Amino acid sequence: MLPLFYIKRLQMKGRKLLMIPGPIEFEPDVMQAMAMATTSHVAPDFIEVFGNSLEHMREVWKSPKGQPFIVAGTGTLAMDMAIANLIEKDDNVLVISTGYFGKRFQDILTHYGANTTILEAPVGEVVPLEVIEKELKTKTYKALTITHVDTSTGVLVDPEPIAKLAKKYHVLSILDGVCSVAAETIHQDEWELDIVLTASQKAVGVPPGLALLMASEKAIQVWENRKTPVCNYYANWKNWLPIMKAYEARKPSYFGTPAVNLIVALETSLKIICKEGVQKRIERHQVLANAFRKGLASLHLEILPRSTEIAANSLTAVYYPKEIDGVALRSKIARSNVIIAGGLLSEIKTSYFRVGHMGSVSPNDLIAVLSALERALLALNYPFETGKSLNAFQTELLKFEE
Ligand code: PMP
Repeated sequence: MLPLFYIKRLQMKGRKLLMIPGPIEFEPDVMQAMAMATTSHVAPDFIEVFGNSLEHMREVWKSPKGQPFIVAGTGTLAMDMAIANLIEKDDNVLVISTGYFGKRFQDILTHYGANTTILEAPVGEVVPLEVIEKELKTKTYKALTITHVDTSTGVLVDPEPIAKLAKKYHVLSILDGVCSVAAETIHQDEWELDIVLTASQKAVGVPPGLALLMASEKAIQVWENRKTPVCNYYANWKNWLPIMKAYEARKPSYFGTPAVNLIVALETSLKIICKEGVQKRIERHQVLANAFRKGLASLHLEILPRSTEIAANSLTAVYYPKEIDGVALRSKIARSNVIIAGGLLSEIKTSYFRVGHMGSVSPNDLIAVLSALERALLALNYPFETGKSLNAFQTELLKFEE
């Protein structure tokens, strides 16, 4: 039998690089925090960690006035929580969709009896502001939903002018920031967004399992003045608001047992984010995303977003070249121990792949992706000059070296 250290070394060599758009590769300190001995959810140390996490969320969301919520669940729970608490039966809600996750908002809204109107952008495009404004003039809307980055297309929407329109027409604005918080610019208070929600497993940098949401003062007031009760038990702010307030006041409380280890990991990750600086971190994401796309362009690969201006910092969706079998390409990339994601948008699911580049992502990670991609293309006889994408990527990065 092989000695243990040798087996471990072999496993290290086989280490897979997770480059899907969430879950992502997590910082070692975050993983170490996950592994601590679980404490009581009312232990003084944990109360401090929970309180700190709520406070750090305000910094990342740029929302000193917001009310943060940290609840065990996924991003879909955060979406559900926003709709369940703010929307009542027969409310009119406008859904601005750039892909799969826009439509999920419509599903949730329909479940709660809202009347939805969906403005769907063609694949790779955004809905023009004039179209949104024209629709807002047609009837009284209670809210609109925006998907900041739709993870199915990699399209980035600018929420600021939409939030302005929402304000002009007295409509609540709900931003799905699952694939954008901590990777794209968000100024929740300044832009007057009523809800900005996310999940732990993306740019926030914590394993899956936490729904994170920030509500504006106005959103809380709208919830307080509902005419009908919230038709959801677990997501009801009536249960969670006192808990969030208690933890922030460093007092013990209980409604549902918090995900203790995940919240310890969340505090660790939010500290890392704040230490790097939220703006600096977003700029790092942007530089890496642009350089990565320069690499792809040098191989004549086309991205889903119609222009690079509306391409996300957090992921890139890329069409397979016409002559290449996508399944074969992805399986060859996987043989290089680089894990990327397939398509998600049902109409074109088999014609593209997605690469996540968020959180602790480094130039080395993206070089590994590009070189695995080149090796796979080479094996499939795609015509290109070997090393070209690595060259383009590094040349672009050099512009930003200090
Ligand atoms: N919205 C967006 C933009 C997402 O990318 C995702 C997850 N990929 C969700 C919502 C749903 O999050 P979850 O899978 O954590 O429920």
